[in-house]
Amino acid sequence: MRLHEILKKSEMAERKLTGGEKRSKESHFKKLKKHKDDFKKRYGDEAEQVMHAIATNRAKGESIFDEPIDVLTEAPDLNSAKSDPIVYVDMDGVLADFFAEWAKLAGVKTGNYKDIPPAKTDPTLDMMVGTDFFNRLPKFPSADKLLQMVKNFAGGYKILSSPLRGDHQNSGEWKKVWIKRELPIQPTEIIIVGRKDSYAVNRQDGTPNILIDDRGKNIESWRSRGGYGIKYQADEDGLDTIAKGLEDYKNQYMKEPEMAEENNTNNNYGISKNATLADLDNIAKNSTSKEKRERAHWLRNMRRGRK
Ligand SMILES: [Mg+2]
Repeated sequence: MRLHEILKKSEMAERKLTGGEKRSKESHFKKLKKHKDDFKKRYGDEAEQVMHAIATNRAKGESIFDEPIDVLTEAPDLNSAKSDPIVYVDMDGVLADFFAEWAKLAGVKTGNYKDIPPAKTDPTLDMMVGTDFFNRLPKFPSADKLLQMVKNFAGGYKILSSPLRGDHQNSGEWKKVWIKRELPIQPTEIIIVGRKDSYAVNRQDGTPNILIDDRGKNIESWRSRGGYGIKYQADEDGLDTIAKGLEDYKNQYMKEPEMAEENNTNNNYGISKNATLADLDNIAKNSTSKEKRERAHWLRNMRRGRK
């Protein structure tokens, strides 16, 4: 899309912002101001207008402005989590059985949404607009357990869910009603937005955040922005997918300091060469690994000149 077309489109979008979106737009605009010089270099006199356009589109969660947003993404540090990650959980296909209810609405006998004839896809989606469709979705039997696993891992979670196209406000309201009623472990925040990947990393320190989502495209763009994605579809994948994903995140980004010094350890079961006698005492007493306890005990005796 050409620049002037984008600006025109976003000007029209700006007129239609809701109260919440307006506030969100202001906050996006404030953040963009920090990059004002970059915008000046790139867009000259139109810099300010472009910034308003990006802020508007971010507030609406729309993706017509792909290019400039991606150019402005800070490169994440892939080696470590500097703070605790936030786990974002998708709703449809992960907690709520959107697809079964969609098939029902389309009158498909098999109950499988894949059997919805292409000609019926859009008309059935249109039938959801303005209704309480999202309030009626069945909850997957695995949903509560999944959220418990996430809570054990991160202490809490946030919902990150896309609105129905053409029904942003209404579908979002009903999703919130559903969440309040159905989920014994409540999210700390509910975010209804079309484009999820702006939450992929912690903007302050680059820590990769985690997204649990059934849509391959969402996972891909999350990863491309430096986040950590777990692809999970409740009616196809087991909860071991979640367990493994969280475990992998821990191993990849949250290594304990003594494990991170691996190159420095001569394979002493991860015990650092620089460990003091007090460190060794501590490991010998408290490590969860039997080998490590025994090794620390042995190393301590060696240092003291005993065998
Ligand atoms: Mg989904």
